[in-house]
Amino acid sequence: MKFTVISRADDHSKETAQEVRFKMEKMGLLYEEEIPDFVITVGGDGTLLYAFHRFKSKLDKVAFVGIHTGHLGFYADWTVDEIDKLVNAIINDHLQVVEYPLLDVSVSYLDASREMKYVALNEATIKSSVGNTMVVDVEVQNTLFETFRGDGLCFSTPSGSTAYNKSLGGAILHPTISAMQMAEMASINNRVYRTIGSSLVIPKHQPCVLKPINKNEFNMTVDHLHVFHSGVRSVEFRVSEKTIRFARFRPHPFWKRVKESFITD
Ligand code: NAP
Ligand code: MN
Repeated sequence: MKFTVISRADDHSKETAQEVRFKMEKMGLLYEEEIPDFVITVGGDGTLLYAFHRFKSKLDKVAFVGIHTGHLGFYADWTVDEIDKLVNAIINDHLQVVEYPLLDVSVSYLDASREMKYVALNEATIKSSVGNTMVVDVEVQNTLFETFRGDGLCFSTPSGSTAYNKSLGGAILHPTISAMQMAEMASINNRVYRTIGSSLVIPKHQPCVLKPINKNEFNMTVDHLHVFHSGVRSVEFRVSEKTIRFARFRPHPFWKRVKESFITD
């Protein structure tokens, strides 16, 4: 069994990461940065997002475990006190693996020879390039659904539905549901312009394609990453064929985490 540890930069996280590595190596587990079986993150949900993007080309090989050194997170949902339990579970092969859906984003350009592909763990957002109104045609399952005018659109995964999507008034989706959610950012709605106004939850195999109407420049985010695109022909969002694997050493129900994060622990 091989593992790596990825830590947030603060002292508490760095010390905790050293403790994890020490305890794992003492039990005969091998520290390996390139193709580990387990990626253990120490910090917050942001730390796990960072680790996900570092290992996104090896998702079928690695399982993630997030230890939080601050408040309880959605991905970083284990405490520092549980390190011994984690080490024991790995040694004794007592881990369960759960898989969560991901989001694929693919950008096509007017220059047809170019294409960019991304995979998101939380969400991808799209806004206009200079802060003016974004105007795009929205096609769902290959049919024109609406012309969206407003600040932007957010496409989130189920596990990302508690992040940016929630601030936009989107629904919280259980990660066993293989779907993506499209949430509006400040759509313009009046007698001339009309959008649906509520979030859409779109199943697997149904792409959502945006086509620029006024400007073909956009600011996009993929989780914590920001990318500027110009000369865009279309942007496609769909539920990915890939999943992220999380290693669990005791059940940690999603709705319990939602309650403990947003209502009360
Ligand atoms: P950040 O600004 O530190 O993250 C914002 C907050 O979102 C942090 O408290 C973070 O937790 C939390 N978070 C991340 N993933 C989450 C999830 N799946 N469920 C619930 N909360 C979650 O930046 P970051 O740490 O690099 O995270 C990037 C994420 O920030 C983006 O993917 C986006 O979802 C979110 N964001 C939210 C808004 C908004 O709500 N208005 C705006 C921009 C970005 P930790 O403190 O544990 O890292
Ligand atoms: Mn953060």
